[in-house]
Amino acid sequence: MKQVRSILINLLFTGVVLLLSTSSFAQALKKGAAGIPYPDMPEIAPLAVHIGKHLEVPESSKGPAIEPGKGYRIQELGKGIYMITDNAYQSMFMEYESDVVVIDAPPSFAQHIRKAIAEVTNKRITHLVYSHAHIDHIGGVKSLNLEKQPVIIGQEETKRLLVRANDAGRPVPTITFKDKYTLKVGTRQLELSYHGVAHEPGNIFIYAPAQQTLMVVDVIFPGWMPWRRFALAKDVPGYFAQVEEINKMKWKTLVSGHVERTGTHADVAEQLEFMNDLKKAARVALASTKFGEGLDPADGMNAWAGFGNYIDRVVIQIVNSVTPKWSTRLGGYDVFIWDQAYAMEQTLRIEEQ
Ligand SMILES: [Zn+2]
Repeated sequence: MKQVRSILINLLFTGVVLLLSTSSFAQALKKGAAGIPYPDMPEIAPLAVHIGKHLEVPESSKGPAIEPGKGYRIQELGKGIYMITDNAYQSMFMEYESDVVVIDAPPSFAQHIRKAIAEVTNKRITHLVYSHAHIDHIGGVKSLNLEKQPVIIGQEETKRLLVRANDAGRPVPTITFKDKYTLKVGTRQLELSYHGVAHEPGNIFIYAPAQQTLMVVDVIFPGWMPWRRFALAKDVPGYFAQVEEINKMKWKTLVSGHVERTGTHADVAEQLEFMNDLKKAARVALASTKFGEGLDPADGMNAWAGFGNYIDRVVIQIVNSVTPKWSTRLGGYDVFIWDQAYAMEQTLRIEEQ
């Protein structure tokens, strides 16, 4: 009797599962409304699902604190070269015999840049170098309140983009170059070079050889998950190649334009390892996911629905695969892992195999 009851319960349970998984149940849902979650949903909330507290930021991702109320801090990186940061954005300045060169002016703290320089010297700003054209890194030029028009140096693609933008807040470079430019001021030197499209056309490497300091903005995020979709890379394969290149180059200190501290070679190697793990997981997920599985047959003629369903299931598998190793190693991992996985899926499916 006990056995019969257990069989009946099992049958009833199977019936409920079958009912839940039939398309008639799916059709009973309001069209376009959220339904039951996909199988094996990661614990990390998907895009646009609001959550409470995010995962803890690892201690190793943090940088020196900023004095309360000050809004910035400066850090000497070598003879005459300083980073200015609000622990979210980073720029640099270089003092030479007679004057000062400023590299980037992020609006988030540009109003403090002259004060920051005044902590070191009372020399005036004669040159600006643009890492790239984006507003959030150079849009604070006006806040520098320069009495005299500075020399502005940028890659020629940066000039093209700024001419197109026609933005008074981002004056167009007065000196441009294609591949390489050496800025010599007094006895100081900056080597500017272009390595092709990754984050943004015109985004350059800025190297101070005497100080062994390399500045490349929006590519490496020391201790942190890269900003969403590989930092909005215009060319994802190019972005992977540039991270490899930075990893191989010789330098001592990296200024990456973001996060709370400067970067080390270990930071670059770690980011590269994460990116390669993500790529490997995406390859496996793309190869093992069947198109159309679990799709409501009534959506059979809706190609976008088919792809949406396929891509979601691929991405769920990617997130599940990389999370155990990486969720506690990179600051903000859970904030952007879905974005990275979607970007990786798309790149491998339509740009490279
Ligand atoms: Zn940018």
